[in-house]
Amino acid sequence: MSEGVNRKQISEGRETEEYKNRLELPKYIRLDASTLCQLKCPACYMRKNPELVKSGCGYGNLKFEDFKKLIDDNILEKIELSNSGEIFLNRDLVKIIEYGYRNGVRVTITNGVNLNYLTEEQAEALVKYEADTITVSIDGASQKVYEIYRVGGNYKRVINNVKKIIKYKKKYKSRFPYINWKFIVFGHNEHEIEKAKAEAKKLGVDEIIFDVNWDKTYSPIKDALRVKELTGIDALDINTSPIVQLKKYKEGKIEWYFCRDLWEPQINWDGQVLGCCANYQKNFGGNVFKEGLMKALNHPDMIYAKNMVTGKVAAKEGIPCTDCWCYKAMKEADIWLTSPKAEGKI
Ligand code: SF4
Ligand code: SF4
Repeated sequence: MSEGVNRKQISEGRETEEYKNRLELPKYIRLDASTLCQLKCPACYMRKNPELVKSGCGYGNLKFEDFKKLIDDNILEKIELSNSGEIFLNRDLVKIIEYGYRNGVRVTITNGVNLNYLTEEQAEALVKYEADTITVSIDGASQKVYEIYRVGGNYKRVINNVKKIIKYKKKYKSRFPYINWKFIVFGHNEHEIEKAKAEAKKLGVDEIIFDVNWDKTYSPIKDALRVKELTGIDALDINTSPIVQLKKYKEGKIEWYFCRDLWEPQINWDGQVLGCCANYQKNFGGNVFKEGLMKALNHPDMIYAKNMVTGKVAAKEGIPCTDCWCYKAMKEADIWLTSPKAEGKI
């Protein structure tokens, strides 16, 4: 990693009150580089509810100038860039990844991309500036099956774009980025699991990972036993209830739970604090690009929300959690998250 602003801040600002306060801020945040997307996946909340999106997070791209200021003003170690759109539609992306790299901030793209569009410059930047991990959603091993869910997508183009990244990994003799082929198993694509595994191996991606479709109404798995044998996914035991997920999280069986994001929060492309990756409709009061990370993350609504999801205070009008299905489930079951900060998990 290069010499950068973070080290400069550390050496110059160690004794100041401001520096100590900054240490209280998360080192890891999620910052959506784009909420735009060229595909129309049937279960995608961003494409199904355009009016809710427009009055909430909106459709747009993160600007390099905003990213630069965020990096310059804070002590961040890791930023996840993908969440609700396709980050490669952001024309500033190469500059963003490069600036992160030059300032010691690890960039990840693990939530997912469809990779239908990738320029040579972007492919090279991912490798040259050591993007940590990229997860590419490819739910099929042929155009016919792939396009059933990835509506408007082109299977061959995606495969060629994965090849582009691998070409630069070879050129730079780099292990970055780690490439995940993510295959969401549906009823309409389960017969292509083995073919996808073979394609992934031939292509040279680092790993093929299988996931479940959380929308039970859309194309459910048909042959659960066979799917379990091939992927380890137990379709007969899929329980997407937030309470089941919370219990698993508390027992240490899974590392992530929705509301945990509040401590390593989701920031929108325009700086609005969205809090968690499930929220796209309302913000938590602050704007990181207008007020700075410190003030935005310490907005009273954000503090109140943390107290709500840990069961310390009652729901309040205006806090995004109040109308959220996840909060309602926790309230009904009277089971609450414990602050990951208090538990020393972050
Ligand atoms: S590729 Fe992702 S962001 Fe785009 S429509 Fe599909 S699910 Fe939504
Ligand atoms: S209650 Fe809902 S909106 Fe609030 S942090 Fe949890 S998932 Fe996000």
